[in-house]
Amino acid sequence: MNFGGYCNKVAWVDLTTGQIEYKPIDEEDARKYIGSRGLGAKYVFDNGPEVDPLGPENILCLMTGPLTGTDVNLSGRIAVCTKSPLTGTIVDSHHGGWSGARLKWAGLDGIVFKGKSEKPVYAYVENGEVSLHDASSCDAWGKSVPVAVKKLQEIHGEKDVSVMTIGVAGEKMVSFANIMNEHDRASGRGGTGAVMGSKNLKAIVVKGVHANRPRPVNKEGFKEAHAAALEQLKDEDYTTSPRKGGLSVYGTNVLMNMVNAIGAMPTRNAQSTYFEPHEMISGETIEETILVGNPTCHACPVACKKEVEITEGAHAGLRMESFEYESAWAFGANCDLSDAAAVSALIASCNEYGLDTIESGNALSVTMEASERGLLDGDGLAWGDSDGMLELLGKIATREGIGDDLANAPAKAAMKWGAPEISMSVKGMSIPAYDPRGIKGMGLGYATSNRGACHLRGYTPAAEVVGNVLHSTGVTDPLEVEGKAKLTIIFQNVHTVTDCLNICKFATFAENLDTFAAQYSTITGNPMDADGLLKVGERVFNLERYYNNLAGFGEGSDYLPERFLKEPADGPGSKGQVCELDVMLEEYYTERGWVNGVVPESKLKELEII
Ligand code: SF4
Repeated sequence: MNFGGYCNKVAWVDLTTGQIEYKPIDEEDARKYIGSRGLGAKYVFDNGPEVDPLGPENILCLMTGPLTGTDVNLSGRIAVCTKSPLTGTIVDSHHGGWSGARLKWAGLDGIVFKGKSEKPVYAYVENGEVSLHDASSCDAWGKSVPVAVKKLQEIHGEKDVSVMTIGVAGEKMVSFANIMNEHDRASGRGGTGAVMGSKNLKAIVVKGVHANRPRPVNKEGFKEAHAAALEQLKDEDYTTSPRKGGLSVYGTNVLMNMVNAIGAMPTRNAQSTYFEPHEMISGETIEETILVGNPTCHACPVACKKEVEITEGAHAGLRMESFEYESAWAFGANCDLSDAAAVSALIASCNEYGLDTIESGNALSVTMEASERGLLDGDGLAWGDSDGMLELLGKIATREGIGDDLANAPAKAAMKWGAPEISMSVKGMSIPAYDPRGIKGMGLGYATSNRGACHLRGYTPAAEVVGNVLHSTGVTDPLEVEGKAKLTIIFQNVHTVTDCLNICKFATFAENLDTFAAQYSTITGNPMDADGLLKVGERVFNLERYYNNLAGFGEGSDYLPERFLKEPADGPGSKGQVCELDVMLEEYYTERGWVNGVVPESKLKELEII
């Protein structure tokens, strides 16, 4: 394969035998699936849909794209692709920081782990080579994320080094354990950390230097394309413009007040759509009170990360950089907690155990509603009880008491407790911070996402909340149903493209497919236009759907929790609304060319999947 931007080298590591093979990337695969999420999905698909997610036969792919680690804006991300132990679907989960860029600079496009090591190990990557090391003798196994990172940095240094590790939750195979990178960045959703734990793989340590970054095939062309992209990013005053746009100044938590204002804030496990004290945990309040820094990722002038420090009270001394909207919602509105310091402590606790904050917040809110209904004899948890919440997080991570039920998935716990309807989940994955009664397109997005109730497979709130018109649909009213099928499909396909290139989705607030195509073409030397990219996005989305169909998700597998369909919203902005999923779903399937959620053979052939 002769495309620029790639190392043309993927390490295939068999943890059972310790054998490591290096394989080039097939040029046809690079054309059809680009890289990162696309190539990862192809590898997971080829490995078969019937594998046990926590069995040695499942593969765990850490994949970069052809733009990763280059000068392209926001190009530091990495995808983790596998079969999810939370949902049983295919899953991809991405994180930012520098690990993706450093993997590329270290000479690899990706690493695929299969099998299971007899003893706990970690992988070390440098100069295009992977080596496996004992994770017990360096005392990383059994340790929290920050302690494991410190121990591995003591051995391999900090300069030019990224540590991606699981915490105790991953070792215990909690179904929503994540993989943490650089302390506070997470491949959060779908339980990728549990897959790592099932393989006895504690961490992946990567050493890569910037001087070894890939250079564009067409240097002059790239210079021009990159300058245009940077201008778009800087000119977008409402969102991405450095130190001007809302995303840059307040981080993702700029959404707290905006989403609440339209009555789309799932509150107390979505029993309400409005959180009265929303301002106390909003991006604006955080910026005025506890914000101490604006960290960023590789090649990103937006710097949306928000570092906070607590100086008073029970959590004094806490400092962390992931006061994100989704996490603040998960423990805040969702659990009826408006104390920003306590919310910070809960997020930090998840980061230490290596737990997905969104699923963890849902685990707590399901427990709270179950307690309210009198279903949990003596094990209850009251709304907003932050000490109790912290304690229960620890029990989930170590699988103690009812923590063990929740560790198997909040949806499974709700079923065991006799109230499956209190789990706000789709295909086993719990919802993030948007109530489908107040943002209808997001409801369709949750139902049709290939990894369960996820906002990032098709981020329609960009149009429905922020008013960002990504393509020709022009629909922005969050309560409108008509046109939401097309809107959702456009967002799903575009985000699949950015995940295959692996650039941060936030770039799409300012840049467009033409800009991405120009940069891709000049870096790789493979000519591509916006339509070509969209076709890749559609192909990869369909490949994932086909995998799920073969894994048992047949007709009728796209749904929403009944609460969103039958219990009218109560908050200002959406009062009286329910989500009319059936209407949108019918239009969606017609547009996709699917039969009630199943990809027909004709579509697979049209997209050259089979
Ligand atoms: S916008 Fe935020 S998450 Fe995206 S690359 Fe920049 S700092 Fe990282």
